[in-house]
Amino acid sequence: MADNKKVIEIIGAIADKIEEQRDYLTKLDGPVGDSDHGINMARGFSEVRNRLPSLAGKDIGTILKTTGMTLMSKVGGASGPLYGSAFMKAGIREDGKSEIGISDFADCLDTAVDAVGKLGHAGAGEATMLDAMIPAAEAVKKELERGETDAKTVLSAASRAAWDGVEKTKNMIATKGRASYVGERGIGHQDPGATSFAYMLDAVRDSL
Ligand code: ADP
Ligand code: MG
Repeated sequence: MADNKKVIEIIGAIADKIEEQRDYLTKLDGPVGDSDHGINMARGFSEVRNRLPSLAGKDIGTILKTTGMTLMSKVGGASGPLYGSAFMKAGIREDGKSEIGISDFADCLDTAVDAVGKLGHAGAGEATMLDAMIPAAEAVKKELERGETDAKTVLSAASRAAWDGVEKTKNMIATKGRASYVGERGIGHQDPGATSFAYMLDAVRDSL
């Protein structure tokens, strides 16, 4: 699927996508939050981008862990530690590797879901980023089980599942994070964090 050089390129593509969607993600955080999700994420990923050149030649674990630590320290807001630990834990899995396959990606996604769930004390159906991440992880597993090996095909299925999940957050009452303060008034609004995750998968798919 990707060697270490490609992983740097993919993370750069994620940073581009987040920057491109900054205002939209911020707007989504208006009705259910404090209007900063896009600003937070763009701040974090712009610092990630600054650090990418220094990661050339490093193993995939180091690249992912550095991304995670940077997000943790720069994003601010709940999404920083959550995405930060997702990338860090995925990085720990891939320590020392210079090449990953689609089944490694599946494992990374599972690890990310687990990391966010543990840190955020959240599960499916609470209108968070997990409502895009969990369906995506399931879609990847389903593709692998039916014997699909083409990474782009698998990522396309993951992205579709994530966007379906984003759509479903409109009908969920948030019980975690700031969105839980608005309760039922959040109905009809899609979760900003689920949306940023779906965009990240789009970026991965498009870079393959
Ligand atoms: P903040 O809510 O601190 O302003 P952001 O606006 O950057 O931070 O991120 C908000 C997003 O973080 C939400 O849309 C949601 O997807 C995610 N989030 C918030 N709290 C949790 C949690 N406990 N578990 C999982 N995801 C969460
Ligand atoms: Mg916010």
